[in-house]
Amino acid sequence: MPHDHHDHDHHHTSELSPIELRVRALESILVEKGYVDPAAVDAIIQTYETEIGPHRGAHVVAKAWSDAPFADWLKRDATAAIASLGYTGRQGEHMAALFNTATLHNMVVCTLCSCYPWTVLGLPPVWYKAPPYRARAVREPRAVLAEFGLVLPETTEVRVWDSTAEMRYLVIPQRPPGTEGWSMEQLAELVTRDSMIGTGLARTPQ
Ligand code: FE
Repeated sequence: MPHDHHDHDHHHTSELSPIELRVRALESILVEKGYVDPAAVDAIIQTYETEIGPHRGAHVVAKAWSDAPFADWLKRDATAAIASLGYTGRQGEHMAALFNTATLHNMVVCTLCSCYPWTVLGLPPVWYKAPPYRARAVREPRAVLAEFGLVLPETTEVRVWDSTAEMRYLVIPQRPPGTEGWSMEQLAELVTRDSMIGTGLARTPQ
């Protein structure tokens, strides 16, 4: 007799991981002691999940691709150029933009912890904070890039930048060919989060 798994085979996702349990416990204590307002915590999380994210960085990159004076400003003073688009705030106080070229590929890591340009990329991906990426990005960048599916020609220099509390980096990937005349909105669609960390390239049009 055929058995319909639809009702029985679903996964229970309510179980929390150890880290989620710890976060929850910590939040309960902070709320209980009156140090944080749960509504404020929810608002901050909501902001980082929806409002602040890689679409901001994609806007910066698309503008750099389509506006030469802006690209020049970004090279000279990324903090000010990015702030001019309204993207300011925590972990973005001192920004540097790293422009990829045909012969240079930039890649960003934080070997000490997880420093990341929050104001333009949102929250860092799990792998960015994980010890293997942090340890290996500097030692064997090409091997790490290959695991991300990115194999660069030997003639391309790979430069790895170690983020600090003082300096956050945004990689400006190369503009893909075949995008002449595209609007900024169209261009921004091609800019992935990983391409702005340097573990990927911008998407190419189909
Ligand atoms: Fe860090």
